[in-house]
Amino acid sequence: MLADKDRIFTNLYGYQPWTLKAAQMRGDWDNTKALLARGQDAIIEEIKASGLRGRGGAGFPTGMKWSFMPKESKDGRPSFLVINADESEPGSCKDREIIRHEPHKLVEGALIAGYAMRARAAYIYTRGEYIREAETLFAAVAEAYAAGFLGKNACGSGYDFDVFVHRGAGAYICGEETAMLESLEGKKGQPRLKPPFPAGAGLYGCPTTVNNVESIAVAPTILRRGAAWFSSFGRDNNKGTKLFQISGHVERPCVVEEAMSVPFSELIEKHCGGIRGGRDNLLAVIPGGSSVPLVPAAEIWDAPMDFDGLKAVGSGLGTAAVIVMDKSTDIVRAIARLSYFYKHESCGQCTPCREGTGWMWRVMERLRTGDAAVEEIDMLHQVTKQVEGHTICALGDAAAWPIQGLIKNFRPEIERRIAEHQREAAE
Ligand code: SF4
Repeated sequence: MLADKDRIFTNLYGYQPWTLKAAQMRGDWDNTKALLARGQDAIIEEIKASGLRGRGGAGFPTGMKWSFMPKESKDGRPSFLVINADESEPGSCKDREIIRHEPHKLVEGALIAGYAMRARAAYIYTRGEYIREAETLFAAVAEAYAAGFLGKNACGSGYDFDVFVHRGAGAYICGEETAMLESLEGKKGQPRLKPPFPAGAGLYGCPTTVNNVESIAVAPTILRRGAAWFSSFGRDNNKGTKLFQISGHVERPCVVEEAMSVPFSELIEKHCGGIRGGRDNLLAVIPGGSSVPLVPAAEIWDAPMDFDGLKAVGSGLGTAAVIVMDKSTDIVRAIARLSYFYKHESCGQCTPCREGTGWMWRVMERLRTGDAAVEEIDMLHQVTKQVEGHTICALGDAAAWPIQGLIKNFRPEIERRIAEHQREAAE
């Protein structure tokens, strides 16, 4: 179990105030000027050495992402950092806790990351429904300006840096990085075709990096405690500490910071008081937010909770939003509900997603009640394959994978419903 002294988020549960004064007592903004004085390249190298991978789901190495930004502007265009706080994935609720209780880690991280990638400003794009969280963030940014930590000559470093907080309007798709840029520019939040990638032409056509809240908020602590400390947690390729969000059928759902690669069983037993009704009552787990395939009980129990460990069981770490389902769950109904969510949130730009998500949801609804033919299970699987990988953004994949996971692991249950429905119809 991760020792308290190794926790980055020491006020995750809000036992202390979030304010600047309290944050400074916890070590935030402690001689940030000296961190910046190390220089842009040294900061990026330290983040690379730490092994930090993006915490928003894709898991791309953070330091490497920062290094893609131009070192000098040849045409006068500024660079921007955009921080993705549009946390809308069903099951995900970690960025909310950071913003509520540790906003200064995020604001300080924005300055450090922005400086490292030579950005002029950071835009923090918050989920529309996060009203109180946005209020806290606005206040934290104002405190940082008043203290001279942001704005002209930020922290006395000689570097000018601004942070803007922008509230979204509640569309899931705005969490996709290029849709977020469109939305920030005041347009309809629809994903862009890539290339060009944001590092070349992002916000307002300028070089831009989009990072998740957690990836940015851990950066100051990594610099203070060193890459070696951070990379001492977790397995190779899966380093550091991570916020896990466990919801569903456990005794005590919670958000907790743990070492990467912690076994699922330890996460559940030590932090959540175990599965409701005991281990034998576990049916399946969606380990990374609703867009990753579910994993049946027998395969998840000993799995290391990291990028590679969950890939090995046919799923993914995603945002580490762990949705636990016990045997009382109507698993077909649960996945059908997710299908409805993706159908509802499709931006409608590409045909396989716009048409496919609705099609998949309607078939899922019939499979839920058993009002279908057995052949339709394979047909549905085929449709998921035609959507997956054939769309502009990853929402198509996100809609396909939960259904693929269901068919792979719970096909007998779907067939049982169909047989039962046919039996009832014949009576
Ligand atoms: Fe829009 Fe779906 Fe295409 Fe993404 S995959 S761009 S959400 S239609």
